[in-house]
Amino acid sequence: MSESPFEAQPYSGIATFGRQRFTRDLTGVDVAVVGIPYDGATSYRSGARFGPRGIREQSLLLWGYHNGLAVAPFRALSVIDFGDLEVVPVDVMDTQRKIESEVGGIISAGPTVISLGGDHSITLPLLRAHAKKYGPLAVIHFDAHPDTWDCEFGEHKYSHGTSFRRALEEKLIHPSAYVQIGIRGPTNGPDDYADATLLGARMITLDEAMSVGIPAVVNEVRKRVGNRPTYLTLDIDALDPAFAPGTGTPEVGGFSSYQMLQMLRGLKGLNFVGFDLVEVSPPFDHSSITSILAANLVFEFLALRALRPQA
Ligand code: MN
Ligand code: MN
Repeated sequence: MSESPFEAQPYSGIATFGRQRFTRDLTGVDVAVVGIPYDGATSYRSGARFGPRGIREQSLLLWGYHNGLAVAPFRALSVIDFGDLEVVPVDVMDTQRKIESEVGGIISAGPTVISLGGDHSITLPLLRAHAKKYGPLAVIHFDAHPDTWDCEFGEHKYSHGTSFRRALEEKLIHPSAYVQIGIRGPTNGPDDYADATLLGARMITLDEAMSVGIPAVVNEVRKRVGNRPTYLTLDIDALDPAFAPGTGTPEVGGFSSYQMLQMLRGLKGLNFVGFDLVEVSPPFDHSSITSILAANLVFEFLALRALRPQA
């Protein structure tokens, strides 16, 4: 039997994520894919507002069956495309309030939310919404950057580079269950990495990941998060710009697509309660390779959600 979401050919029809239903009726829904097209908090190249649209377009070719994990997420779960949230391009705080309230409403009704960014500022209100439901969260954070700066552009506390300092200050993250993976590249000074560690992050730099190997990275992450409610946030710049050029602050020397797939598959069985994939900027992409990768990484999230242990 076909595991395809629909019988229609992937190139026909209107682009919803994975050709799933577009609806805001949450009855019986397990997973809502939500677009958050906000890029007003980027510090360098913008364009992530086009991320949800780009990822949806490249998700059309996702067939239904995950051979690596032996699961058909679109059959195991009721998945909908919720469409995009309303954002305010000129106001980061107002946008964050809207995200927290709207996503909070969805998750309190039951479904797991997979958010498509947008820049990494959207993760703070997403963590607020999830922590309100689940308490302090274990957080698995793939990124080239620690995103634990105090301010950007002078005294501004809310940008895509400050989300995780704010989240730690607000106690949204369980202090011993926060892992950053893939950190690399030049920073302003030695304190940038030290700050993240002082705030409580277990930082697995790209250098460490490459020297210990992917299976050891997976073991360390699993050991840290245990069976706590776990939120996974994936900044596409964790990957090498050769695999993901369409992003706002690229850093050379990152993970390959396959290494990222290996890590995500290694997280099977964890208690995932939320996911986001951020910083895909289609205007800087080439042949849609970043959006194709992003769509496939979201398919991995769906497989992880489908394989979550029953509560
Ligand atoms: Mn980031
Ligand atoms: Mn980043």
